[in-house]
Amino acid sequence: MRRLFLFALLLAPGSARAQLPVDTAGAGRLIEEALQRSDLMPNLQYLSDRIGPRLSGSPAMRRANDWFAEKFRGYGLAASLEAYPFGVTWERGPIAVRLLSPFPRAVTAWSWAWTEGTGGKALAGPVVRVNAATAESLAVYRDRIRGAWLIISDTALVWNPDGPAMTAADSAARRAEQERRQGLARQLNADSSKAARDARQQFGIDRPYLLRKMGALGTITDGGKEHALVTMSGSPNRVSPLPNLVVSHEDFLMFTRQIGAGIAPRLEARIENRIGKTPVEQWNTIGEIRGSEWPGQVVILGAHLDSWDVAQGVTDNGASSVAILEAARVIRASGLTPKRTIRFILFSGEEQGLLGSRAYAAAHAATADSIQAVLVLDNGTGMITGQALQGRDELEQLWKDLLAPVAGLGAGAVRQGMKGGTDHLAFVPYGVPAFNFDQETRGYNHTHHSQSDTFDKAIGSDLRQAAAVMAVTAYQLANLPVLLPRGNRTEVTPPSVARPSPGVAR
Ligand SMILES: [Zn+2]
Repeated sequence: MRRLFLFALLLAPGSARAQLPVDTAGAGRLIEEALQRSDLMPNLQYLSDRIGPRLSGSPAMRRANDWFAEKFRGYGLAASLEAYPFGVTWERGPIAVRLLSPFPRAVTAWSWAWTEGTGGKALAGPVVRVNAATAESLAVYRDRIRGAWLIISDTALVWNPDGPAMTAADSAARRAEQERRQGLARQLNADSSKAARDARQQFGIDRPYLLRKMGALGTITDGGKEHALVTMSGSPNRVSPLPNLVVSHEDFLMFTRQIGAGIAPRLEARIENRIGKTPVEQWNTIGEIRGSEWPGQVVILGAHLDSWDVAQGVTDNGASSVAILEAARVIRASGLTPKRTIRFILFSGEEQGLLGSRAYAAAHAATADSIQAVLVLDNGTGMITGQALQGRDELEQLWKDLLAPVAGLGAGAVRQGMKGGTDHLAFVPYGVPAFNFDQETRGYNHTHHSQSDTFDKAIGSDLRQAAAVMAVTAYQLANLPVLLPRGNRTEVTPPSVARPSPGVAR
């Protein structure tokens, strides 16, 4: 009844402000604590330089889980680890890749995560480009596949606005090519039945098994960034038996040029990766400040603590993780007690498909209606610029009011917009108001998932601001007189594990 009433008022222009009065008392104390007495950068340096990268399933991930729990307790919060089923582990081993001809040179390459190595053997063969789009095309290229390193994917469309060769014409051509590819994919999907789409998807899962059976040495993937950086990815839900070398965009282009000129480059690679035998659990770390009036209702501040393993996982997403921890410290140190519980969650498994947050949201589905809001930070080291409304445009005035005390810090911009790709999405299907803060970019598109995601990229003043903004907004949401109206509930599909067709795997 109350919720319906509130919703009606929210939909009436100009009424939301009156109905959702944001109490800004205390914001000044929180901001001062965050900006003047910060623990943030020493904590981030500890995480980055001592614990290092945190691939989900690795010992470092668990060390980070435990360290955050200890830090929460040190700041006077209750803390725990919550387990969920993750999948098999993957351990990146040594790799050595060389170009043998047309000239000898070392090639910097990284294994795509959750792919097999070469069993420690050096495997040499030509780099060959084949059309592997369908089972029929594989049959056509059968003779060229055996004993070769295969290029089966498109050249990445790398956006490097600082690149020396990037003219306006180049940009236009690149955009046109991007649109052409998207158009082709859309057309293909529109033209086919569900059965055909499912079959295509299954072929994509089976393909590395089929290629291995046909004697392929492995595949080569474009690193997809500029200046020899690579974008790492992979998932325990899609383990591959075939080595997959991620090489720089520059080397990928060189191979394709050489092939185009009739020169078959020869490559030798030795890789020792280890895929776990049985599925394991992973953990989310949870810290909590108990509410004084409505302890059963919670505001969640969240970030993913896991990272890729090719650097230190600082901008993605150690910085945000430590900013969440700092927001917890700031609220405790301020001496303010929120009326609702504020829960600080460091998710894992985000990089493999929001596995930690989806598991958390599913495990707590029965109490989803008591989650006031979920606020996630996951866009690099930049200061918070404001909030995207995630389809909850009726909350525009509320967000303006929540951000009013930090508007002077540059965080006051509220916009209509949907953000994808991170943990707040795990809560949206349950009707929970869930948001991902907007941030300054600060080079995030270059650093994230790459070898360049290192501690030197962290910007202390920006992150202290982010901690202040999160402490203030979470505290105010915790004190709001009412629970926010729910969004629409939608169907929740659990993460699916890609399994090869019977008979394909050997
Ligand atoms: Zn991230």
